Amino acid sequence: MTTNTTDILIIGGGPAGSTFGNLAAQRGWQVTLFEKEKHPRFHIGESLLPMTMPIIDRLDLREELEAIGVRKNGADFTSFRAGAFSNSYPFARALGDSPDHAFQVRRSEFDHMLFEGCRRAGVDAHEEMSVTKVERLESGSHRVTVSDAAGRESTWLAKFLVDASGRDTFLSGKEGWKHRNPKHASAAVFSHFRGVKRRSGERQGDISIYWFEHGWVWMIPLRDDITSVGAVCDPEYIKSRRGSLDDFLLETVNRMVGTRSRIRDATQEMPAQATGNYSYLSDRMMGPGFLMVGDAFAFVDPIFSSGVHLAMSSAQRGIDMADAWLAGDQRAYRRACRSYEKETQLGLNAFTWFIYRFRTPAMNYLFSNPRNAFRMVEGVISMLAGDVFSNRAVRRRLLVFKGMYALVAMLLRVGILDESQSPRPRARPQRTGNVASE
Ligand SMILES: Cc1cc2nc3c(=O)[nH]c(=O)nc-3n(C[C@H](O)[C@H](O)[C@H](O)COP(=O)(O)OP(=O)(O)OC[C@H]3O[C@@H](n4cnc5c(N)ncnc54)[C@H](O)[C@@H]3O)c2cc1C
Repeated sequence: MTTNTTDILIIGGGPAGSTFGNLAAQRGWQVTLFEKEKHPRFHIGESLLPMTMPIIDRLDLREELEAIGVRKNGADFTSFRAGAFSNSYPFARALGDSPDHAFQVRRSEFDHMLFEGCRRAGVDAHEEMSVTKVERLESGSHRVTVSDAAGRESTWLAKFLVDASGRDTFLSGKEGWKHRNPKHASAAVFSHFRGVKRRSGERQGDISIYWFEHGWVWMIPLRDDITSVGAVCDPEYIKSRRGSLDDFLLETVNRMVGTRSRIRDATQEMPAQATGNYSYLSDRMMGPGFLMVGDAFAFVDPIFSSGVHLAMSSAQRGIDMADAWLAGDQRAYRRACRSYEKETQLGLNAFTWFIYRFRTPAMNYLFSNPRNAFRMVEGVISMLAGDVFSNRAVRRRLLVFKGMYALVAMLLRVGILDESQSPRPRARPQRTGNVASE
């Protein structure tokens, strides 16, 4: 069998892989990418964050994204204690200069767009070809075996390897680096519906999050009057299911006044799907001549729609590592590794702190009663916009929020505050930028 050679070989053509490929090709490297499926294909993860927009610009795909997406100006949150009242967090009120909007997309279209974009940038991108084996060589290169749909194998020698295989976690799974998070076990059920009632005016494209005793529900408006509806729940609650997945999803959505009234006249457009316990982290995110980006390294929870942003931004940051490695500049490579590791952890930690506490009474209280003391709500909006990597002002405001969280948790514990009597969101816009709506 002849061995093909390439500078960079990428496993997976989702957002992380296609972004890495596009940007590496822009820098003049020879890039080869293998995707095991054929685009367009369904994928969950339809709500994007504003801080992804500058990356989209670097990929020169803004116009195409605008054509397939629904403009998303913010996010709203509704606690089951608040009936149908929600608190809206508009991105325009974020600290700093993060973009004031993002988009909601069908991932089949979005991922196809990114994949074709990286082909246009010069990447040798193959579909329906799976990477089946990777061997690390002493030289620091990797020998990669790829199999096509008919089972025919080919071998590639790659100077730098990027694992962007998503939840398949190709490398960390094979190497035993992957750890499930026992403290944050959850599962999701989701589908697409036509005719779900939308928010009005500028809020009509926003994502809505509703939380209840066993988890939370998302509603993401897509084009053509389709809305993605999903429930993320405790595994025990999911195990209590008796009927079909479709019935289970509807029963769950109908538990809350807010979601019930919005889905009442809608029709389901595809069979419900489920994904199991999905929270994990890998011991390593890199090594000599290789890097893991996006879900291939870690995935925590979709509550803040951070997955695609973390995937694309990690790909963007990883380019400097590949550059230095391929140029043989060991000092620059070590520097790039350190900065990649630090920034990746920073971003992940910013989200995980909120994610792990999201369903606690204190977080419920704070999200239902937003107060902009010390501009901490603006800091939270920046986090929701994905501005979590290097903005010190945002980090300071999030620290204030954490302090407030500790205080509220203590006051709830000793009974000075009562979660069940938490005041309803105000019916009029507040100075903070939070808008209560029905
Ligand atoms: C229930 C749920 C809801 C979510 N909601 C959101 C949301 O609203 N917003 C958001 O931003 N994120 C969301 N996410 C997360 C989001 O789906 C992921 O974080 C995102 O897709 C990660 O991108 P990626 O490129 O790393 O991986 P993926 O998008 O999974 O891409 C990986 C690609 O690699 C390919 N591949 C795998 N193994 C191989 C192999 N051996 N050879 C070749 N190809 C291979 C796969 O076919 C796939 O196309 C959600 C996740 C879940 C589970």
